Amino acid sequence: MMETDFDLKWVAFEITPRCNLDCIHCRTNASMQLKDVLTFKNITDTIDEIAKEFKPVVVLTGGEPLLRNDVFEIADYIRAQGMRVGLATNGTLVDYSKALEIKRHIDIVSLSIDGSSSSIHDDFRHINGAFDKTIKAASIFKELGINFIVNSSFTKRNQNDIENTYRLSKKIGASAWYMFMIVPTGRGADINDELISKTDYEKILKWHFYMELKEKDIFVRPTCAPEYYAVCDIEARKNNIDYTRRNLSFSTGGAKGCLAGQKIAFINYEGNVKPCSYFLRDAGNILEKGFLDIWHNSKIFKDMRNFNSYNKKCSTCKYINVCGGCRARADAYYGDYLAIDPYCFV
Ligand code: SF4
Ligand code: SF4
Repeated sequence: MMETDFDLKWVAFEITPRCNLDCIHCRTNASMQLKDVLTFKNITDTIDEIAKEFKPVVVLTGGEPLLRNDVFEIADYIRAQGMRVGLATNGTLVDYSKALEIKRHIDIVSLSIDGSSSSIHDDFRHINGAFDKTIKAASIFKELGINFIVNSSFTKRNQNDIENTYRLSKKIGASAWYMFMIVPTGRGADINDELISKTDYEKILKWHFYMELKEKDIFVRPTCAPEYYAVCDIEARKNNIDYTRRNLSFSTGGAKGCLAGQKIAFINYEGNVKPCSYFLRDAGNILEKGFLDIWHNSKIFKDMRNFNSYNKKCSTCKYINVCGGCRARADAYYGDYLAIDPYCFV
């Protein structure tokens, strides 16, 4: 990637820390006891600032963003600046009237589904009945013609259900299925022993490659598994497979495994800016500095774009331009975001 390629294409904005669920892997430690920190003005000032240079897709997330009364006003404001708006929801608060509002104000919805049955999903989300409500939300979206994707997070607890969850996502009419590999942070740190092993991680990525080759109806992508891009190349060469990745609309616009700090950014509920949502460190805070100042000038963001600053194994690796390793995982394991990705098996 050239320095000029580092345009902001996608930003996740955590507009609330409040949530009606209690997910085991929540990066935010979200809870109904917490209070919103960012005001409508804090949020829209930041959108104004971003709009001076970029027109990214802005994904409203949380916590549960639908708990914020002004969520659709925020969405309208973002659209008025010429940007598209996503909504990342657990779906449990969606009924017909909420879905109609979503249809009016939001361009793309992502639903979180972490298993193909209520026992698996509800165990992960610590609330009985969450699965049924989320599936109901999906059926309402489908009926109303609302474009939605499914995000699924996996640990040892639900890794045997990966294929079933993919099939379920297809069945309920999602336009894409994104398989997230959990990176320890927030409550995730407590589930370190629950993380999928490195050996299984490699097997799962290989499974995904062959599944993706056959999948023609929906878009699929492993997320926060940058080694996938190396796996695709290795498997395709080994077996003489002609392989071209399809582009996703509403994607981050790049064909690289990790785009954190390069094309994407995350703003948490306190205004802290990070290269991605799993990143432990903050690069700055929008209540103290402009977003663009942080994007252009903070050390973390600059390091993320300088591949020569990465550990030697990555910086000299032939896959540096398509993988680059997970910097958040390196930081969580070694306290150094430029270290080798502990899950690199290449
Ligand atoms: S640093 Fe890791 S967790 Fe963050 S976007 Fe990149 S791959 Fe995903
Ligand atoms: S060495 Fe780094 S860039 Fe190469 S495959 Fe491993 S994590 Fe990716």
